[in-house]
Amino acid sequence: MRVVLIGAPGAGKGVYAQYFRDKYCIPHISTGDIFRDEISRGTELGLRVKQYVERGLLVPDEIVIDVVKKRLQQPDTQRGFILDGFPRTIVQARALDEFTNIDITIHLLVSEEVAVRRLSGRRVCPVCGRVYNIYYEPKPRVNEKCDYDGTQLIQRQDDYPEVVRQRYRVFYETFTPVLDYYTSTRRLVEVNADKTLSEILPLLEKILVDIGVLKLNPCRDVKID
Ligand code: AMP
Repeated sequence: MRVVLIGAPGAGKGVYAQYFRDKYCIPHISTGDIFRDEISRGTELGLRVKQYVERGLLVPDEIVIDVVKKRLQQPDTQRGFILDGFPRTIVQARALDEFTNIDITIHLLVSEEVAVRRLSGRRVCPVCGRVYNIYYEPKPRVNEKCDYDGTQLIQRQDDYPEVVRQRYRVFYETFTPVLDYYTSTRRLVEVNADKTLSEILPLLEKILVDIGVLKLNPCRDVKID
């Protein structure tokens, strides 16, 4: 099951990738997460990419391609993988096709209004990192305190509505050529990501089963809240 997941901020990519990771033991490979981790550990790669990531600029193709190529050689990817945040350019998409066969690219299509509502409702506990949403379950208490440690929840600056709108537009400016690339190679499926989690998860599983890429048995029993 070799899947590329594409979705604007607020589409829920992380949630879906995490579900497949937990249920089928398929690694979720997020280039953004890899870079943030390398930066926080102060590695040589971290130092090379820091200047780009901190300014929201694309890391040069040759660096990202090398990172993903090495990651896909790790033994845990033998059952498959879900790529998130890669490819972001045509050069990356072509390189990926040279070192692996992607079964399907899923575009989680979220409307700008739903993305803004989802992300502007997000609140984070600055102490334990738990994430809440004032519009969806699990809701914070009325006074927006963390259920676990009672800390006042905060809103991340990049979740402010105007910033979300900006991120959404930048996403489509960046990703449209990649979406066109996968459409032209007939490997793109669009899913309406405005729907709820409990509607989308069975739909994603059905798509993967129907095209024959989800042949695995679950490795764990995962419940949908
Ligand atoms: P993300 O968490 O996917 O938004 O990625 C965070 C940052 O990592 C981006 O703003 C880029 O600086 C960098 N990055 C992640 N993936 C890529 C990629 N495929 N190509 C270039 N830069 C990337």
